[in-house]
Amino acid sequence: MSAAQISADALIIGGGVAGLFILDTLVDSGVGALLVDAHPLGSGQTTSSQGILHAGVKYALAGSAGDDAVEASEAAALWSEMLCGGAGNDLRGVRVLTDHCWLWRSASWAGVAGMLGARLALRTAPVAVAEQERPEWLRGVKGDVLKLGETVIDPRSLLQVLAERHSARILRSDVQAIERLANGASVTMGGTGEYRVRASSVILAAGNGNERLSALADAAEPMQRRPLRQLMIRGSLPLVFGHCIDGARTRVTITSDRLADGSVVWHVGGQIAEDGVRMDASEFLRYGLAEVASALPGVELGGCEAGEYVVDRAEPRTKDGRRPPRAFAQWSGSICTVWPIKLVLAPLLAKAVCAQVRERSVVRSPSNGWGDLRDGVTMAQRPWESRWNSPQMGTR
Ligand SMILES: Cc1cc2nc3c(=O)[nH]c(=O)nc-3n(C[C@H](O)[C@H](O)[C@H](O)COP(=O)(O)OP(=O)(O)OC[C@H]3O[C@@H](n4cnc5c(N)ncnc54)[C@H](O)[C@@H]3O)c2cc1C
Repeated sequence: MSAAQISADALIIGGGVAGLFILDTLVDSGVGALLVDAHPLGSGQTTSSQGILHAGVKYALAGSAGDDAVEASEAAALWSEMLCGGAGNDLRGVRVLTDHCWLWRSASWAGVAGMLGARLALRTAPVAVAEQERPEWLRGVKGDVLKLGETVIDPRSLLQVLAERHSARILRSDVQAIERLANGASVTMGGTGEYRVRASSVILAAGNGNERLSALADAAEPMQRRPLRQLMIRGSLPLVFGHCIDGARTRVTITSDRLADGSVVWHVGGQIAEDGVRMDASEFLRYGLAEVASALPGVELGGCEAGEYVVDRAEPRTKDGRRPPRAFAQWSGSICTVWPIKLVLAPLLAKAVCAQVRERSVVRSPSNGWGDLRDGVTMAQRPWESRWNSPQMGTR
């Protein structure tokens, strides 16, 4: 059977936050772009994300506003515009879970608030909050508490908004081969090679999947995986958004969502998630629940259920194996490999990639969709919907 031939200015492979943001940005600037994903959209990292639009504070706890803190701060400002419909990517349909987070620790802050405000080039400096103005769930916490202008979104609703806007341009299929051409690349897809796309630019935005794809494309960008073991707690809980810190370390980061039955699920990361990958599931649940209980002594966890899951962060390889400082986009001929590093950085990444794609577009093809090939595009579930492993009761 001969393969159906399609041409496009750009083909994006992978429909997490990076791929969908790039698609939205390219289409908005008049580029004929298409996207293909082998799985439900956002499988992997984006639907596991805590959805915090980090304003840079977390990266600056060590005492100076490095490039990554400043970049995150700029990106967070861009998000504020987009959530109001501006800056080119209209995100008014995205569910905003909160427009502020809290930062606290059990010992005294002793000048940390001043340090954060004074030393950081952040757009919104954290504000110390008097005891009577704190939320109920922070009542048992001794020492200062700061309020941060840090928004938290539901990452799946973000994917939904972008995917619905461009539904005709998104296809579910697996990539079989990527062949470099003089002015672009040819990508073969489908189990039996039913379709072939010729594109001036091919963007590899498949998270973990980039390892295989970049090898197929002979671009072989070295990748690292940094696993996390996230904790989930559900029950009759308050909605909590914030970070409990210990020096420069984030002990726990808690975000929340309300479930259909009215209960609340806490999604907990931070240092416990880094430590948890060296533990088995039950050891981690004991440790994670104890950390949460100590971070929030005023909250009753009795009667709650706890679960956990492991997920890999996919990134370009660094010399020391730590988080790369900024979003990554590397071109090799017409193939560009991208990793946003953080969800909050995806719009900056998309703008940078878009500028390059526009320069490289040879055809300016009218491609505006997959036509009859399109079917079966679905959205990945949140971890508490699909990965509630070994539920256990809370410890108190
Ligand atoms: C637990 C956790 C919490 C996080 N919290 C935050 C946070 O609060 N704030 C923040 O800014 N960042 C956060 N991050 C980071 C952020 O989620 C990621 O940087 C971002 O989601 C990565 O997006 P992505 O599109 O590159 O990859 P992914 O979301 O992994 O998407 C990759 C896509 O590619 C598809 N794919 C894979 N292989 C192929 C293939 N062969 N062909 C076609 N498609 C393929 C997948 O199906 C998927 O749809 C968090 C990450 C984790 C793991």
